[in-house]
Amino acid sequence: MNNDALQAFFQQQFSSTPQGVVSAPGRVNLIGEFTDYNQGFVLPCALTFRTQVFYRLRDDNTVNVLSTMYPNEQESFVVNQSISAGASQWGNYIRAVAFVLNRAGHQLQGVDLLIESNVPQGSGLSSSAALEVAIAGMFNHVCGLNLTAEQIALFGQEAENDFMDCQCGIMDQLISAKGQQNQALLIDCQNLHTKSVTIPTDLSIVIVNSNYPRKLVDSEYNQRRIDCEQAAKKMGLTTLRDANLDLLIQTKPQMSANEFARAHHVITENTRVIAATEALVNNDIEQLRILMTASHQSLKHDFEVTVPATDGLVQICQQALGDRGAVRMTGGGFGGAIVCLCRNEDVAAIQHAVEQHYFAQFKLQADIYVCTAGKGLTVKTLSQ
Ligand code: ADP
Ligand code: MG
Repeated sequence: MNNDALQAFFQQQFSSTPQGVVSAPGRVNLIGEFTDYNQGFVLPCALTFRTQVFYRLRDDNTVNVLSTMYPNEQESFVVNQSISAGASQWGNYIRAVAFVLNRAGHQLQGVDLLIESNVPQGSGLSSSAALEVAIAGMFNHVCGLNLTAEQIALFGQEAENDFMDCQCGIMDQLISAKGQQNQALLIDCQNLHTKSVTIPTDLSIVIVNSNYPRKLVDSEYNQRRIDCEQAAKKMGLTTLRDANLDLLIQTKPQMSANEFARAHHVITENTRVIAATEALVNNDIEQLRILMTASHQSLKHDFEVTVPATDGLVQICQQALGDRGAVRMTGGGFGGAIVCLCRNEDVAAIQHAVEQHYFAQFKLQADIYVCTAGKGLTVKTLSQ
């Protein structure tokens, strides 16, 4: 649906026109996987795929929500009183954001909302963070909460951690709130400091979604976080941010095999993020290739979050690009997408190789997105 059709649909459903639209992007992480919740470094960029929330203030405390993705369901709940989980899984993301804002003492107002998104869901491109940031950004705007982009991101993360029971770090929400056009963002997750890095114009970002179905992965995801926390504790540290390989090897006898391997990934990945940031600044594809290949291997062997379909896709794309491109899995793993960085003229080689080999090997159809970095959270008022 285009924006005119969405506004007409809003009018038809809520008998009034929307006052504005708040929008937040999905993201792709170039490198730095599972480092965010260990207070480390990440290098994501926002995408031009976005989740839009059309809103109109109500004069009561009721929040009514429709999503074009779930056409037959309307979500309704009341703010400024205890908010608990409802029957609808997607509706809980909206409740979650209202819950954490209320919990922090923010007074909210009722709203009618229509959500539309072109962020692929469950593909590691973070449609959930796009939704949380758009909803938090909407309440911030309509209720005059005066939150910074960092605070909006933190509320989004809290919503996912404390209400949705997914122990994610801050990366997805922060890049969705703060992303900039044509820029990747180096984030230091210890203090949320960011540094933007321009993506060279002759470099393409190609995302290939494996479409491998992710099932029951939250418990696996959360277990990895516990392993990391245990490893840090055994090294006498609060977080893995302060760990190094010497200390890890010294402490190995006290660790389980999983704790050692998870920490090994995090420590080496942090180093790779810093090196990859420099390589991106220098437009050094050869260095990016080495670092992204090492990142993927570490995610496969140490963090154990790849599946044959994403390993296979990485291999297909690496073979197509040779030393002219950098490839690795991206996002939370257990399926989802891979990301390639290559020269613009090599995009066709990826498309060709995926078409030729992926379905034949895995009986799954991949989706290919040639992306540019988009901007973070935006708010636009509509003329009445
Ligand atoms: P990812 O963040 O990788 O896309 P998640 O499983 O974390 O995958 O989040 C996907 C969930 O987010 C969906 O199952 C749905 O509940 C919610 N969601 C995402 N986009 C929308 C949308 N446009 N409308 C309603 N719910 C959405
Ligand atoms: Mg998510």
